[in-house]
Amino acid sequence: MKCIVILFTCFLGLLGFTQQTKYVDFIEANAVLVLNPDSTKVSGLVAYEMTALQSIDSVFIDAKNMTFPGGISVNDKKASYTNDGNRLWIYTPFKKDSTYRITFNYDCYPKQALYFLKRKEDWNIWTQGQGKYTSHWLPSFDDVNEKVIFKIGTAFTSGYEIISNGKRLQGLQDGNVNSGVYAMQKPMSSYLLALVIGNYNKKTETSSSGVPLEYYYYPEDSLKVEPTYRYSKRMFDFLEGEIGFAYPWQNYKQVPVHDFLYAGMENTSLTIFSDAFVVDSIGFNDKNYVNVNAHELAHQWFGDLVTAKSGEHHWLQEGFATYYALLAERDIFGADYFYFKLFEAAVELGRQDFSGDGTSLLNPKSSSLTFYQRGAWVLHALRSLVGDAVFKRAVRSYLEKHQFKNVQTSDFITEVERLYGRNLSGFKQKWIVAEAFPFDDAIALLQRQSDYVKDYMMIDCSAKSGKCAEYIKYYASDDAKIRVISQAPELVTEDTFKHGLRVRQAIAQYVKQIPKALKANYETLLRDSSYLTIESALYNLWVNFPEDRPKYLASTRGVYGFSDMNVRLLWIVLNLSTPFYEADNKQQLYQELVGYTESEYNAALRMNAFRYLKMISSCNETCLSNLELAKSHHNWQLVKFAKEMTEQLQEVKN
Ligand SMILES: [Zn+2]
Repeated sequence: MKCIVILFTCFLGLLGFTQQTKYVDFIEANAVLVLNPDSTKVSGLVAYEMTALQSIDSVFIDAKNMTFPGGISVNDKKASYTNDGNRLWIYTPFKKDSTYRITFNYDCYPKQALYFLKRKEDWNIWTQGQGKYTSHWLPSFDDVNEKVIFKIGTAFTSGYEIISNGKRLQGLQDGNVNSGVYAMQKPMSSYLLALVIGNYNKKTETSSSGVPLEYYYYPEDSLKVEPTYRYSKRMFDFLEGEIGFAYPWQNYKQVPVHDFLYAGMENTSLTIFSDAFVVDSIGFNDKNYVNVNAHELAHQWFGDLVTAKSGEHHWLQEGFATYYALLAERDIFGADYFYFKLFEAAVELGRQDFSGDGTSLLNPKSSSLTFYQRGAWVLHALRSLVGDAVFKRAVRSYLEKHQFKNVQTSDFITEVERLYGRNLSGFKQKWIVAEAFPFDDAIALLQRQSDYVKDYMMIDCSAKSGKCAEYIKYYASDDAKIRVISQAPELVTEDTFKHGLRVRQAIAQYVKQIPKALKANYETLLRDSSYLTIESALYNLWVNFPEDRPKYLASTRGVYGFSDMNVRLLWIVLNLSTPFYEADNKQQLYQELVGYTESEYNAALRMNAFRYLKMISSCNETCLSNLELAKSHHNWQLVKFAKEMTEQLQEVKN
């Protein structure tokens, strides 16, 4: 018997993990977790309910570096099992069409996918499943094709908010322990499981269709809630209408977290996003959450409701999310914005092909640019070909047919072909399968659809013509003016300053040598509602007019900028580099700058601080020891940065 089991195990093993869904269907998971942040230990009690689709002798659950102190039970009877540190194999004769309940306790110390971080004095704990594997903190399924209804209760020190997928059933407060129980009603892939524990307040709204929308924020950020979450409800209502399929989950929660790995992650009914997007109303003008907000929301349908079977079809998630986010933005910012974004994407895709890095959209190793932007372009081109009505009906029908299941490219294309009444193999070959992005087709389409893009393309001042000065003054759109300023900054005149925020931003960015005649105008940039403008303008003015340095520093004191404190750090360094200005204060400012390299601050701020300290050759012992610590951070960009900076410091020394 055992031999057969082993043979079978080998057989299933050879097939690879994607195959288990042919033999078994895991239906529901009930888990209770206890998190101990001081030891970074996760303990849990789990019950899986499953049905055998075939008679088999074993099943597995992915479980990375876990122990199972109480053994494994199947229908309350002890079962034999093996644990290779990667998967838990359970051996029992499972009969076709019978249902089983697998229960166990487990312990683990997750090295990835769940991060115990501190934000100031508070714990900020969060998870990232996609690319990191939920099976590092909860025994679950790395195979996206296994969809399960998850119900998760979590216990943690009281005083913290516990947030997870689905609807909150109850929150128990028992002495020093707080527990939150969340239940999904519908199945999803394990990579979409999420848990956040932190110190949060929340604002709630209800969508026009009655879905509760929850916006979480750090207690000190109440004034940033409106700019951060601006347009959330409007985009939710828009996407529900545009997609034509009711939002499929019980509620929609959005939570910013400390030092996140990406911009955002579309966990089912619980988007986690980087707190770098938590902005005030000035920061909103420079880098806001609107696009990421819409993108992760669109994934709730494209990715969460219908999930790509494999990497080959990844564009069904990223291409759709990018395209629908763009449609939501079009509803807010207008058609010119929409077409210009498509134009920029086409140019980048063309450039990628030109440098020999282009791939078929079906290549699982494609770049993000291909998955996201070429994917979005496929949908724009397809819709332009088949018309709005057919496109929308096809998308709705595709979602209805495959909801809560997995999809491949043909599932979508077949649906469009059926409603369009014509074969799309030519389209598919050119836009999806071929290695080269059909750049000329894309540009020709845009030129037919958008005068804005057409006009923009005609304006080019790389070879300076007499017309360029006029473009800046009159005819051109803001995007075209920005392009002219970048190509010919010497054409900027007093009049150019009269344009809007984005054109003024370009002046601050590109006009580095400031003519005396423009000095007074240039100084007004320091009062713009843009931290990017203020940062560039402060630096350029400080360099160009040494006699007025104290004046510029005085007028920008107290401006901090984004969460990476772009303006504050520059201000400190300029202050330190201005002899005799506030001489008594310099030591304190230097300490402040070094302080920002500490691990309690976000990675972007720390990198900024390290960079400036290196620039002024003042990375002291504290700075060096923080640099060393940064090398074991969970954010690979910071790790890479810290290693490179250490090398550069060594080179200077030698
Ligand atoms: Zn995405």
